[in-house]
Amino acid sequence: MFPSTHLIVSLILAAILFPFVGINSLIIIVGGVLIDLDHVIYYWIRFKDINLKNAYNYCKNIAQTEEFKKKKKVFMLFHSVEFIAIIIILSFYYTFLWMLVVGIIVHLIMDIIYELSTFKTMVKSLSLIAYLKHVKKQNKK
Ligand SMILES: [Zn+2]
Repeated sequence: MFPSTHLIVSLILAAILFPFVGINSLIIIVGGVLIDLDHVIYYWIRFKDINLKNAYNYCKNIAQTEEFKKKKKVFMLFHSVEFIAIIIILSFYYTFLWMLVVGIIVHLIMDIIYELSTFKTMVKSLSLIAYLKHVKKQNKK
């Protein structure tokens, strides 16, 4: 899913919720757009290359990479249920984080729709535990 699409949807959602939650609605944009930074961090660590354009191109074409063809899944921390669970727990102490949860969930729904319609499969594993089980199973083959 393109960052611009996530930004537009997050801005619209923030505008809709602004009358009810005020300035906290802007946090939706953080959850809705910036969680894709895990892709960039992954690329930086994996390839030791901090070029943003290279990271963007790699992520855009990740389903065509040898790594993906071998593993059949990728794991992105901020896109995982484990990460969302931590944010939800923290939301009970810092209520503004609920807007982050809203942004992340909307982002994930958009990613799921995009991946299923474009690649006919989920590229990202939405759980670290499921990903580790998947990799273990792949390595046995
Ligand atoms: Zn995403």
